[in-house]
Amino acid sequence: MSAQALNSLAFFQQLQAHFSLIWSGLRYRPELLDTLLMRAWQSFDANVASQCEGLPALDCHKGCATCCTLRVTATAPEVFMLARFIRAVTPGLMKHGVDLRAQIARANDVTCGVGEADRVAARQRCPFIAQGVCVVYQVRPLACRGLASYDRKACAQAASGLVDEIPYSEPHMRLRSLVQNALQSALRDAGVAWGNHELNQALLMALDDDTLEARWLAGEDVLRAAQVEEVPEQEMAHTFDLLKRAVM
Ligand code: SF4
Repeated sequence: MSAQALNSLAFFQQLQAHFSLIWSGLRYRPELLDTLLMRAWQSFDANVASQCEGLPALDCHKGCATCCTLRVTATAPEVFMLARFIRAVTPGLMKHGVDLRAQIARANDVTCGVGEADRVAARQRCPFIAQGVCVVYQVRPLACRGLASYDRKACAQAASGLVDEIPYSEPHMRLRSLVQNALQSALRDAGVAWGNHELNQALLMALDDDTLEARWLAGEDVLRAAQVEEVPEQEMAHTFDLLKRAVM
């Protein structure tokens, strides 16, 4: 399925149906979250690649983490996947004096409950940056994947408050929204909490209580304290219902 060949509505409907199929097939299996997120990331990557054909080259590069001071939001599967990853890599990193949980806690002391504008002003770097590189790159949330710039100088100037506009890639932003919304809509249909969460706070919660993933799967809204509502939940639910019923 290509988002270039199909319109956004068809893309959303087909991807949501695919997520729902994965959910019903793997509901009680440990590979459920991995399979859902692999599908989300593959769909995002493949369609971004095709939609960026013929557009100018991106100016993002390894070692630049200018945009990694912005607030990151993530769905529950993304949070729990990251928590699993962090638990797995922590023993090895601790041998090198890197304590990811402590880094997240320090960042959370600055970012917890802070609105987006104040957060930009605080310029608190993401706790996963090490020497300009994201140490959780392979499992980074869709929010991070959806931000790609055509002009890294503009990113640096915006971070210093010198300019307001950054020429971000529209296909990246659009596909991030489509893929994330299709996932959220499928989670809602599955009867689990489907909101978006501020990453530092949600991750700390998930790392500090390893019962949360199972409780979320059982239908508890365990990450509610970290939820961010860029669009009111009821409005999003209504939009998802309209999109699901819409005729292509
Ligand atoms: S998770 Fe990685 S890509 Fe996302 S903000 Fe943090 S360092 Fe940057």
